[in-house]
Amino acid sequence: MKVFISADIEGITGVATIRQLTVPGEYNRFRKLMTAEVNAAIRGAFNGGATEVVVADGHGNMSNILIEDLDPRARLVSGNNRVMCQLEGLDESFDAIAFVGHHGREGESHAVISHTLAGICVKEIKINGAVVGETEMNARVAGHFGVPAVFISGDDLYVQEVMETLPNVKSVVTKYAKDRLAAELLSPAVVQSEIEEQMAAALQEIEAARPCGHEGPVTFEIEFKGPQQAHMTTTLPTVEALSPTRIRFTCKDMVSAYKHMWGCVIIAMAATNGVLGDANA
Ligand SMILES: [Zn+2]
Repeated sequence: MKVFISADIEGITGVATIRQLTVPGEYNRFRKLMTAEVNAAIRGAFNGGATEVVVADGHGNMSNILIEDLDPRARLVSGNNRVMCQLEGLDESFDAIAFVGHHGREGESHAVISHTLAGICVKEIKINGAVVGETEMNARVAGHFGVPAVFISGDDLYVQEVMETLPNVKSVVTKYAKDRLAAELLSPAVVQSEIEEQMAAALQEIEAARPCGHEGPVTFEIEFKGPQQAHMTTTLPTVEALSPTRIRFTCKDMVSAYKHMWGCVIIAMAATNGVLGDANA
């Protein structure tokens, strides 16, 4: 059984503020804790019957997990020049996908460091009319490959949010959100043993899991924070502007739509302060 783990950092226990992920000394602590939570999921996966585990590091520069500390049975996708964003390496050969250390979507909840892919530019993403966060979006892409989502971990509000769309996943609450930038944290030791246990349980019940599939074309709507971000995505002929900050495009399937979305987000991030910077000054 092959298992894919999409790992992020905002949802691990310990993290309560953005500063913890940006100040070098602090960031190093949380890279270690992130690696430890991912290791717990890897142990659980093998205990639950996995024979192969691939982990995709999905935060920021996508090279946070410390390979030297990672369970040697797993392989790690690292580095952020990826056409498949947080899912690079996923294909139909996998049997399950798990989300470790993920976070709530951009919006009005107090989920810890809530955002959707890029807090600097994305205000909302809709797929075929439904507002999604990263986990719900990634679960749909995995569904295209016939791979069911079986496990999630993150703060209590994130878990609540995702369970609305994926009610059958096993989940572990790592902390209780008190504000977007404050949380009541559980001990890493407690969280790691729960992750190990629930991940194993999720795979032992894999027969009942169903992929989150889509038939036919997929339409994305993206609301950006700045009009310059939305405007520059209209360089792509597939993109239609619905308002100065909202765009729409349609692709033949979920995987091409996901790549298209990521391309638009990359353009929007670059456009925040001028796509060419001072390069042609
Ligand atoms: Zn992240």
